[in-house]
Amino acid sequence: MRTEFLHDTPEDIARAASLLQNGELVAFPTETVYGLGADARREDSVRAVFAAKGRPADNPLIVHIAEISQIGDIAAEIPEIALRLADAFWPGPLTMVLPKRDCIPMVTSGGLDTVGIRMPSHPVARALIRESGCPIAAPSANRSGKPSPTTARHVMDDMDGRIAAVLDGGLCEVGVESTVICFDDADTIHILRPGLISKEDLEPYASRVYVDKAIYEQIAPDAKVASPGMKYKHYSPDAKILPIDAPDFESFAAYVQAHSGEGVYCLLFDADPEIPGVPAMRYGDSGAQQAHFLFLRFRELDEAGAKTVYVRMPRQDGADLSVYNRLMRAAGFEVIRI
Ligand code: AMP
Ligand code: MG
Repeated sequence: MRTEFLHDTPEDIARAASLLQNGELVAFPTETVYGLGADARREDSVRAVFAAKGRPADNPLIVHIAEISQIGDIAAEIPEIALRLADAFWPGPLTMVLPKRDCIPMVTSGGLDTVGIRMPSHPVARALIRESGCPIAAPSANRSGKPSPTTARHVMDDMDGRIAAVLDGGLCEVGVESTVICFDDADTIHILRPGLISKEDLEPYASRVYVDKAIYEQIAPDAKVASPGMKYKHYSPDAKILPIDAPDFESFAAYVQAHSGEGVYCLLFDADPEIPGVPAMRYGDSGAQQAHFLFLRFRELDEAGAKTVYVRMPRQDGADLSVYNRLMRAAGFEVIRI
C-alpha cells in the first residue's frame, strides 16, 4: 500500500475524511501526539488499526469527537461531573472513560463495556472529525511499544506502507498523550494515565482526585489493572533509557562521566551545564517543556546512534508527572539512585 502524504489544506482534509468514510486508516495531528484514526463504529477498520500498530487486542482505543454534544452518541451514561469537566477542559487533552453505547463495538473498547472519549483542540483534528462525520477511534500513530509520534515524519517512519494516509499538521504542542480518567463514584476522579492536565488542575472539580498506583511502580504481569494500557511496555526508543535519581547536577555529571563511552549520551535540562566528553540532548526545564520534547528527543537519540542514555529525572508533581511516567515506562521502571 502506498501511504498518501497529505497537507493541512481543505482539499487534503476532505481527502482524508473520505478515506475514513471508506473504512481506511488515516494518521492525523492532535495537540497531544499524532493519532492513527479509523471510524470507531466499524469493526473491520478498528481491527486494521490494531494490526497496523501491532497493538494487543485488549488495549482499548480512545474515541475522538468534535463537539461536546456528541458525547451522548458514544457514552450510555454521562454523570454530572463528566459534563462539568467537559465544559472546563474540552477541547483539550483530557480523556474520560464512561459506559459505552452499542454503536461502539467491543474491538474498539478492547472488550470492555466502557469507552475513553476525548474532544481534541487541534483544528486539523476537529476539521477531520467534522468532515468525516465519524467518531474517530485513534491510538497514538506509532508501532506498539515505540515512542508516540509528534511529527508527520515520525508517523511515516513507523507506518509508511501500512496505512492509507498521513495528514501533516506540524509538530504537536503538548507532546505526551492525554490525561485519562475514570470516575469511581459521582465525586471521585481516578487518574489512569497522567497528562498535561494534572491532578492539581482536576482537584477543584471533585471531592477526591487520586493517581492510580501503577503510574509509580511496575505492576505484576498478571495483576488486574484499571486501564489495560498500564500493562504494556511503552514509549521506548531503541537506545537503553537510564534515568538517574541524583541529589544534584554535580553527582549526576560525575556518574555519567565515569560511565561514558561509545554510544553513551545524556538527556539534560536546558539549565544544566555541559558534561565534558559526553554528547548531550536537552528536553526543557518545566514539565510542559519536557512533555513537548521527550518523545521528539527519544527519536532523535535513536537517529544519532545513541545506545545508552542517562536522563535527568523530572519532578513528579503537576504536569511533570506525565513526563516522569513516560520516562519510567521507557526505562522499565529501572532507576539509578545515587
Ligand atoms: P493510546 O491509544 O496509545 O493513547 O492509549 C490509550 C490509553 O487509554 C491506554 O492506556 C488505554 O488503556 C486507556 N483507555 C482507553 N479506553 C479505556 C477504557 N475504556 N478503560 C480504561 N482505560 C482505557
Ligand atoms: Mg500509544
